[in-house]
Amino acid sequence: MEPTAAKTKTDAEASGNGTAPATETFDVHNPADGSVIETVEVASPERVAEVVARVRAAQPEWEAMGFKERYRWLGRLRDWMIDNADALADLMQSETGKVRADAELEAPFICDAINFWGQRAAGFLADETPSSHNPMFKVKRLRITYRPNPVVGVISPWNFPLILAFDDAIPALMAGAAVVVKPSEVTPLIAMEIARAWKEEVGGPDVIDVVNGTADTGGALIDEVDFIQFTGSDRTGRVVMKRAADTLTPVSLELGGKDPMIVLRDANVDRAANAAAFGGLGNTGQICMAIERVYVEEPIYDEFVDKLTKRVRELRQGVDDRSFKQDVGAMTFPPQVDIVSDHVEDAREKGARITTGGQRKDGPGNWYEPTVIADADHSMKVMVDETFGPVLGVMKVADADEAIRMANDTRYGLSASVMSRDTKHAERVARKLEVGAANIDDVLTNYFLQDLPMGGWKSSGVGFRHGEYGIKRFCRTEAIVSPRLPQGKRDPMWFPHRARDRRIMAAVFRFINARGLRNRLGIGKSRS
Ligand code: NAD
Repeated sequence: MEPTAAKTKTDAEASGNGTAPATETFDVHNPADGSVIETVEVASPERVAEVVARVRAAQPEWEAMGFKERYRWLGRLRDWMIDNADALADLMQSETGKVRADAELEAPFICDAINFWGQRAAGFLADETPSSHNPMFKVKRLRITYRPNPVVGVISPWNFPLILAFDDAIPALMAGAAVVVKPSEVTPLIAMEIARAWKEEVGGPDVIDVVNGTADTGGALIDEVDFIQFTGSDRTGRVVMKRAADTLTPVSLELGGKDPMIVLRDANVDRAANAAAFGGLGNTGQICMAIERVYVEEPIYDEFVDKLTKRVRELRQGVDDRSFKQDVGAMTFPPQVDIVSDHVEDAREKGARITTGGQRKDGPGNWYEPTVIADADHSMKVMVDETFGPVLGVMKVADADEAIRMANDTRYGLSASVMSRDTKHAERVARKLEVGAANIDDVLTNYFLQDLPMGGWKSSGVGFRHGEYGIKRFCRTEAIVSPRLPQGKRDPMWFPHRARDRRIMAAVFRFINARGLRNRLGIGKSRS
């Protein structure tokens, strides 16, 4: 993978709009070798306000054009992404250090999301017409309508810079909102490229834009938009929620995880070891839902550790090109290597066995070896804090009950895996886990199922994406109450109050709410 020549792209150029002057810039590095690949302009709070005002002005027309037309526009973006998948994966590799297989995953995922929301949004957001439980209101037609928050802000992290910027933007756009993305300052280029393509290649309406920067830019975006979708660490999530409280802006927060895998004694040990290796070390372990800790029932513990160690030792790590010659890439964010190293050293000092890996790699770029830590326990950081790197902690447990207890012994609750040949037994175990999703005899799959809600319990999030609520969360509901019958001059509840009207209403109220005919008719006492 050749680093791209360094060049400066202004925020205004990147978005194809505006003329606000630059005050600050930041460099984007290639994590595989540390070289600077681009210098990007920081969006000041004034610039953020300007961008939000511009897309806000375009939003009513976007909303008015309806679902079909919006899908047509987003379908053009999908087609452009399909035609340019290789170039997008090249760009992705250069700013993240991903191997080709990980980089090639993202654009198809977003194309699938466009089709999912394109086909389902109209149904999910169709008017609902409940009927009142109260017979007095049978004369009214009740309707619930869904209208978008006009501008949705998306703040995204660096580990899946395309998926996590647009997996939420697409349903917001399909709902009729305009979207402004603030990508991670570590990996802004792919989101900038999608915004450029939307404007210059697709010629789409002015309802998608990107603003770049760090906490100040993110904070300014929170101040300006009508809904904030945040994906990142729980530490930043708390700051985002507090900032949003100032303007009473609703939020959806997708935060960190410490996902467990439980390997039950009847599991296919080869499958469990392969699943742990892929679920834990895919994308160099930088997945919110990565398996970070494994609890294995005692009878198969040694066999599992041996097989997992062998599998991980065989993984190829290095700078990849387009030929899929590597399995594990660089770490994207340099400080994350220090966290990984700290967790491994802490486990080593506390008596765990490092069965493979356990070292930084020398040379340029951010590299840490794929690592397995056996005989880990909850006194070690690697089993309780988010590692977010190519490291798997493994712990022996006596039985499924202990595995459940240990799996739940965390402030996180994103997802989990239960490996077993007995699906029913594994599902019973899964129901006892405090997580937003559980994969039985599998890893990570729930994220690819747009049909299911994806979100975390406890410190892993507030709200969830995907599924019906995944689009409804971007909307405000409007309840419309209309008459079914011709209307008179006055309703009995209205002024002036009259004794006769009130007595009739009280009798009707009693008839409806009391139980037993005598009580309903007022000739006995009401009791339940
Ligand atoms: P982070 O919290 O450091 O940053 C996320 C984003 O927030 C970045 O764009 C950053 O610039 C911005 N930001 C930072 N401070 C801000 C502030 N004060 N106000 C507004 N915005 C601010 O997270 P990261 O290091 O980029 O990503 C890794 C974390 O993301 C991990 O904890 C991982 O588990 C989590 N994550 C969660 C999911 C999920 O779906 N639950 C998915 C991927 C990653």
